[in-house]
Amino acid sequence: MPEGDSIHHAAVRLRPVLLGGPLERVASPSERTAPKRWDKRLKGQTVERIEARGKNLLIFFAGELVLHSHLRMTGSWAVRTTGDQWPRSTRRAWLVMGRGDKDVIEFDGPFLELRTHHDVAIDPRLRALGPDICVPAQVDPARVLTRLRQDDPTRPVGDALLNQRTVAGIGNVWKSEACWAQKVDPTKPLSETPDRDLTAMIEWTAPRIQRCAKLGTHLRPKQVYGQDGRPCPRCRTPISKRQLGDDNRPTFWCTGCQS
Ligand SMILES: [Zn+2]
Repeated sequence: MPEGDSIHHAAVRLRPVLLGGPLERVASPSERTAPKRWDKRLKGQTVERIEARGKNLLIFFAGELVLHSHLRMTGSWAVRTTGDQWPRSTRRAWLVMGRGDKDVIEFDGPFLELRTHHDVAIDPRLRALGPDICVPAQVDPARVLTRLRQDDPTRPVGDALLNQRTVAGIGNVWKSEACWAQKVDPTKPLSETPDRDLTAMIEWTAPRIQRCAKLGTHLRPKQVYGQDGRPCPRCRTPISKRQLGDDNRPTFWCTGCQS
């Protein structure tokens, strides 16, 4: 499940392959992207820097082009040695960029666009992002609390944590795990959730998601996410699952010890 840590870790994996010289191979095998002629536009281009911002990955090329990726629920970035087997079928590869003996492959989009530095600089969605929880220098729990209190007080707390304008990078996994770790009911409205619980969830999440951003998402805590029907590791009550908020995002929690 792509969240802020997946995107930051993708940037960590892509940099050694893409930085340091012009792209030697570019292909867009998917039917969805073949007509875009990205191969013509990107081959020989040099990557200047790669940035993760919340759940967005931005690959800046020397000159005017930027590749903007948002993985939503389905996309992924893989790095493979040429000739190795790919983790998904070739038809699902929206873009392949290679240098030396390594390729980076973007699978299943679903948002991948070639834009300009100027477009990205003025993009209202990127400009509206809150502090990035994967970046230590950006996360001040007191500031995040202030922003949470500016959101709709009737909004369930689990849903409010997903608001990328409040704090960028938290998705369904981290919101479910943070609520469980701090015994907070994610379905309760913000107005009924005390400041100390909101602050505790941010303070709990920040160092853990930052570690995953650096080292990989296999280090994520896995106490409740995807565990519906199984006993809560703390109190043995079966874990519940519900679609929460305007976007029906899956939430996992324990009705026994999260209140
Ligand atoms: Zn429990």
